[in-house]
Amino acid sequence: MSTRKFWNEEIETISRKDLENYQYHMLLEHLTLAYEKSQYYRESFDKAGVKPSNFRKLSDISKFPFVNKHIERERQQSKPLLGDMTAVAEEEVVFVSASSGSTGVPTLSPFTKKDFEEFQDVQSRLFWAAGMRPNDRYVHALNFTLFVGGPDVIGAQNLGALCIWAGAIPSDRLLFILKEFQPTVIWTTPSYAWYLGETARKQGIDPAKDLSINKIIVAGEPGGSIEATRQAIEELWEAKVYDFYGISDIFGACAGMCSERNGLHLAEDHILVEVINPDTLEPVAEGERGELVFTTLRKTARPMIRFRTGDIGTVNKEKCACGRTHVRINITGRLDDMLIVSGVNVFPSDIEYVVRNMEELSGEYRITAISENFTTKFKLEVERALGNHEPKDVLAEKVSAKIKTRIGVKPKEVIILDNGELPRATHKAKRLIDERNGGSYA
Ligand SMILES: [Zn+2]
Repeated sequence: MSTRKFWNEEIETISRKDLENYQYHMLLEHLTLAYEKSQYYRESFDKAGVKPSNFRKLSDISKFPFVNKHIERERQQSKPLLGDMTAVAEEEVVFVSASSGSTGVPTLSPFTKKDFEEFQDVQSRLFWAAGMRPNDRYVHALNFTLFVGGPDVIGAQNLGALCIWAGAIPSDRLLFILKEFQPTVIWTTPSYAWYLGETARKQGIDPAKDLSINKIIVAGEPGGSIEATRQAIEELWEAKVYDFYGISDIFGACAGMCSERNGLHLAEDHILVEVINPDTLEPVAEGERGELVFTTLRKTARPMIRFRTGDIGTVNKEKCACGRTHVRINITGRLDDMLIVSGVNVFPSDIEYVVRNMEELSGEYRITAISENFTTKFKLEVERALGNHEPKDVLAEKVSAKIKTRIGVKPKEVIILDNGELPRATHKAKRLIDERNGGSYA
C-alpha cells in the first residue's frame, strides 16, 4: 500500500477535459440544490435574474452572484443557528466549526455526515501528496476547540498514520511529546515552527538531531510558500516544509503541496476556483494575480456559490511534474493586508521574501502602515542577524534598495534593531500594524 503514489489516482490525475466536464455536472446539481433548498440562494438568484437552467457551461458561473464573509455572517444571524444559506435540515448536520471572527461573531461551517467524510478524505489525499504514509507518526498540534483544522487529524488517521492528538498546547508540553513519541510529521504555522525550533534549542534540544520530525506541514500564513522562509525552517529542523491552504467556510485544508513543492494542488473535484480583479470583479487573465473565488461542488450542508475568499494569489493550470492535474494555487496574502503604496500593491509576503533572503538580517520583521498627505507609506523594522556589526544606516540603505528592486517602491523608513528585539510570534504572527487614520486603505 505504501508504494502507491496517489491517494486517489483516478481523481488526482484526471485529464483537465474530464475534470471540467465532471465539475460542470456536479455544479449543475449543486446549483439546483442551492436554488431549491436554500432560502438565501433562491432569493439571491431570483434577484440576479438567474436560474440553474442558465448554467450551460462552466464559465456560466460568472452569471451568478458572489457571496462573502459579510453576507455569510448576516445570513447566519438572520436565522440562527445555521442561517438560511444552508440546503439541508439541521437534523442532517453532524458537525460545525466556528471561525474566530475579528468582529466577535463567529461564523459557523456546517457539515452533514457525508460532507464530513468527504472533507476527511480530502485531508487524507493532501497528507498523502505531502508524503505522509502509514508508517509515519503524526502529531496534530492544531487547536481542537471549534477550529475546522482540529478534525483534520482524522484524515491522517484514515490514511493509516499513528496519530497523536496534541492540540494547541504550551510549547514545553509539545516538546515533551516530540522527545517522548519521536513523531515524524507535525502540522503548525510557519511562525510557530520557527519559534518551536528556537525554543527547543534554548532548552538544549537540537531539533535536527534529537527529534525525528522529517516533515512539517504549515498553514495559516504565506510563509510556507516563501522559499527563504521555508529554507530557514528546514535548516533548523532538517525537515521538509509543505504548505497547506485552508478556508474554514469550506474545509480545513482545501489545497496542499506535493513532492514538487511548486504551488498547492487544490481539490478541484470539490471546489471550483475563479480568479477575479477585486475592484472590477472581472476575471483576470490566466496566471495573473487576483482574488480567489471558491464555489463548492459537493458540500451540501451549506453550498458556497462564488465565495470571495479575500485571499490574493495565482492559479496555475499546467499539469504538475508529480502527475497530478488539479490546479496549483499560490497565495500572496490577504486582500485586507494589501497596502497600495504609490499605486503599487504591496503585501507583507513581498517584504518577507526580501528580509528572509538577506543573511545580514535575522528574518523577523514588522511593517507599520502610516498615512502621509492622504497617501499610504510604510515603515519597516528588521533585526540584524547575530554576529552582524554593520553600521545600522548602511544596512538600512541596503534593505531599502532591495525592497525597491523587488516591489518597485521603497519603505519610508527602515529601522534596524538588534537581534531579539522584535516580539517572537507563537502561533499567527502579527506583522502588519495599521496606523493610518481609522485604518482605512485609501
Ligand atoms: Zn504536484
